[in-house]
Amino acid sequence: MKILISNDDGYLAPGLLALAEAMSEIADVVVVAPERNRSGASNALTLDKPLSVTRVRDDVYFVNGTPSDCVHVALTGLLDYRPDLIVSGINQGQNMGDDTLYSGTVAAATEGFLFGIPAIAFSQSDKGWGYIDDAARYALDLVRNRLDLIQKPFLLNVNIPNCPYAEIRGEQLTRLGKRHPSEPVIKSADPRGRVIYWIGPAGEAREAGEGTDFFAVAKGYVSITPLQIDLTHTIQLEQLKRVWK
Ligand code: MN
Repeated sequence: MKILISNDDGYLAPGLLALAEAMSEIADVVVVAPERNRSGASNALTLDKPLSVTRVRDDVYFVNGTPSDCVHVALTGLLDYRPDLIVSGINQGQNMGDDTLYSGTVAAATEGFLFGIPAIAFSQSDKGWGYIDDAARYALDLVRNRLDLIQKPFLLNVNIPNCPYAEIRGEQLTRLGKRHPSEPVIKSADPRGRVIYWIGPAGEAREAGEGTDFFAVAKGYVSITPLQIDLTHTIQLEQLKRVWK
């Protein structure tokens, strides 16, 4: 098996290193990841400048672009084979509910999925890299034992609690919850007195009941959400077709 690994925290991030080490137990691994932290990059592709790829060592590359750039370049120019699986992460911090729209971690997986390749985005529920090797071991379990159950191509969003491997209570298949709107921007001033704005933190979970990703992780389970990319609002489309004269 050949696995392409990317992330949005950058090619030196502990979560990526742990994930690559774990996956190398069962696959040939190649890392193509951003040269610096691009968290929140979503699905952006760099169209206004060329991209460069730097080989760090055998099968480890960084790109001066976004997570989507990394996977796009890997699949369409850099690699001379098609990976069997793409894994992204393990992200520093959760990607649940509405986070999935902004997440570069999810985006790297999505880029592979759009090329028809099965893909999984892994995130830890809390920042700080606590128990990252335990999370990577869990990720390896999932890849090793579960993927035959899922129709290909798939796009999975996986969130892992920060806890010892033995204390993970199991896994739950979930739907995305929803968050409250983000906190307001933080207004400040630069050293020259000009007003600047910092984007505020994400909102707290709003729809977080049983069956959601928020609920599963809060209870100590790994959350596994199968994602799709078609944004069509099918119900509204049908309603509109009835009244649109
Ligand atoms: Mn990140």
